[in-house]
Amino acid sequence: MGKIIDGNLISAKVKDEVKNEVEKLKMKGITPCLAVIIVGSDPASRVYVNNKKKACEYTGMKSLEFALPEETSQEELLNLIDKLNEDKQVNGILCQLPLPKSIDEETVLNKIAPEKDVDAFHPLNVGHIMIGDAKLLPCTPAGVVEMLDYSNIDLKGKTCAIIGRSNIVGKPMAMLMVQRDATVTVCHSKTKNLSEITRNSDIIISSAGRKNLITADMVKDGAVVIDVSINRDENGKLCGDVDYENVKEKASYITPVPGGVGPMTISVLMKNTLMATKSQNGEA
Ligand code: NAD
Repeated sequence: MGKIIDGNLISAKVKDEVKNEVEKLKMKGITPCLAVIIVGSDPASRVYVNNKKKACEYTGMKSLEFALPEETSQEELLNLIDKLNEDKQVNGILCQLPLPKSIDEETVLNKIAPEKDVDAFHPLNVGHIMIGDAKLLPCTPAGVVEMLDYSNIDLKGKTCAIIGRSNIVGKPMAMLMVQRDATVTVCHSKTKNLSEITRNSDIIISSAGRKNLITADMVKDGAVVIDVSINRDENGKLCGDVDYENVKEKASYITPVPGGVGPMTISVLMKNTLMATKSQNGEA
């Protein structure tokens, strides 16, 4: 049976490291501050925003919440971002997605000052991720790499199938794995021979958002299986893409859902806010 990679445990360790660094900054009179914007009342977004606030509290950072009504115009939102961009007390800005349909997501994300863009969604930061010199890391993909490193999994020369090609997960994940010397195949909804590719992969990172997409027959013995997705099964229970019970018998390492990649995303967000603060204060 595969070893379970415990995202809660690793995330707690990362947050403790951030907390120590925040204490050192506070002794110099600097308190990192994350501004979180939420538009509308999507319940899942509410949960994510609360978790981000809790992580700020735990690590000793200040958090500001801007909860705007569903009918907020794009202009009002852009004006708020302008103000936060200029506010020297604010080190990181995050706009919780999804936004209401009347607001253009790309315009909003591009408005956030790149040095405060702790989600690393701004094209300038995406470019740095591509080049391999990013200070602000893509939260979920970097969280996956943290987990692999923590588990001492050697990535050099390993074949890696990434399932999903979104701007948030799949594409930056591919970049990070290439930078770590893995040989990467990016799969997506039009990929024809998915099981052939996964069966030949040392590492499978699935972010399709399709429950039971990855079954045991698609996984080679001893593969590392990372499940990024958050789906709900027929009973409303959280699950990923991977048929966890059967795949864990074949994998050497596997992440559960929940308790796998999910908690890592927030701990990388805390790392990014710390990094943004340091670099804005000439400390990095
Ligand atoms: P998305 O819908 O933007 O992208 C899904 C990708 O999967 C697409 O590129 C699509 O081509 C591919 N895909 C869909 N069906 C497929 C199939 N049958 N075979 C192969 N590829 C297929 O989603 P996203 O924003 O990248 O998120 C993916 C999943 O990860 C979601 O379940 C989301 O909830 C989860 N997620 C988790 C975290 C976390 O913190 N753990 C963070 C972000 C997203």
